[in-house]
Amino acid sequence: MTASDPYESLGVRRRINAAGALTRLGGAVMAPEVVAAMAAASQASVDIGELQDAASGRIAEATGAEAGLVTTGAAAALTLAAAASIARWDVAKMAALPHADAFPHDILIPRTHRTGYAHALAASGARLVDIGHNDRGTGAGVRGLESWEIETALTPSVVAMAFSVNATSIVDLPTAIAVCRANGVPLIVDAAAQLPPKENLGRFIAMGVDLVAFSGGKALGGPQASGILAGRRDLVASALLQQLDMDVAPETWMPPKLIDRANLRGVPHHGIGRGFKAGKEEIVGLLTALDRFVKADDGKANAVLEVRLKAIAAALEGLDVKLVPASVTGRTPVLEIAVADALAMSARLQRGDPPVHLSERHSARGVLTLDPQVLLPEHDGPLAAAIRTAA
Ligand SMILES: *Cc1c(COP(=O)(O)O)cnc(C)c1O
Repeated sequence: MTASDPYESLGVRRRINAAGALTRLGGAVMAPEVVAAMAAASQASVDIGELQDAASGRIAEATGAEAGLVTTGAAAALTLAAAASIARWDVAKMAALPHADAFPHDILIPRTHRTGYAHALAASGARLVDIGHNDRGTGAGVRGLESWEIETALTPSVVAMAFSVNATSIVDLPTAIAVCRANGVPLIVDAAAQLPPKENLGRFIAMGVDLVAFSGGKALGGPQASGILAGRRDLVASALLQQLDMDVAPETWMPPKLIDRANLRGVPHHGIGRGFKAGKEEIVGLLTALDRFVKADDGKANAVLEVRLKAIAAALEGLDVKLVPASVTGRTPVLEIAVADALAMSARLQRGDPPVHLSERHSARGVLTLDPQVLLPEHDGPLAAAIRTAA
């Protein structure tokens, strides 16, 4: 296998990705600075707990949270958040997960927030309890999540509430925060894909949520298998404890500073998160990417993307193409291409040489979305040519 082109030697085709930083397409394309940091990190032995302590400090700075943890993705962060809410500092509960029948393990989830990623919460051993209805989503009515719906469901077996935040659901977030706060129940927020804008790094914590999960391998531009869990110190510490390699002698174990050993009645075994271990390369890569993301000039980056999208749109003259600016998307600008049969066209593009991917998220309304988040500039021309051919 050659270092210069590992994919070619494996016979794996490179793809033109105008669909966004999708996990199935390999997530972000990392900046050289992030690659270099990961390579340098790989050349030494370090204590992973000490490294996670340092990461916690950096994540706290970037998010305003008390503490933070580098995970292997937002999905892993959700599993760990659920496990932390169930077990807290109890080593016996940590040892029992995912079998949680002997103690409280219910997590409330609004019906409209039941994404495919709810499986990650349930993987901890939690039982998901659906609440509320879907009047807005179905168009049947005007009402969203209401306090009494959460309060009614708050039995002693509830250990947390989950909330999947996006531009639509955020109107209900203050209600969830107020009820969870008043009842001492942690609120776990899935904000995996809510970056950019970078303001969202600190937004949900500032509003009062207890734990928030972000993907590291999407817009953050970190390693594909990385993510962040940020929030309350005690919960992040429990999550860390359930992720660390715990093959340690109790006599010599030196826990990370985040973990207050006085709270533990023993040294935990490998926890539910042991299979989601974040390596030194991922941790350092994520932190380097986070630093770049925080410092980046989004306005300037979006202006550059708009110029590129306008050039692509010009090359697609004759097709029904609309530029949607960053001010409207709330993230990067995109091109919307209206076609007769969006999924058939998407399939033709994916079968092309090279294979081309546009976002299918609005295919139900006859639109393929050209999302430039991880589109390489040298692909702009071939992308436009492929779309013309497939249209
Ligand atoms: C991508 C995504 C996840 C999973 O994130 P990973 O970092 O790939 O684990 C979870 N929730 C939502 C809403 C997502 O978009």
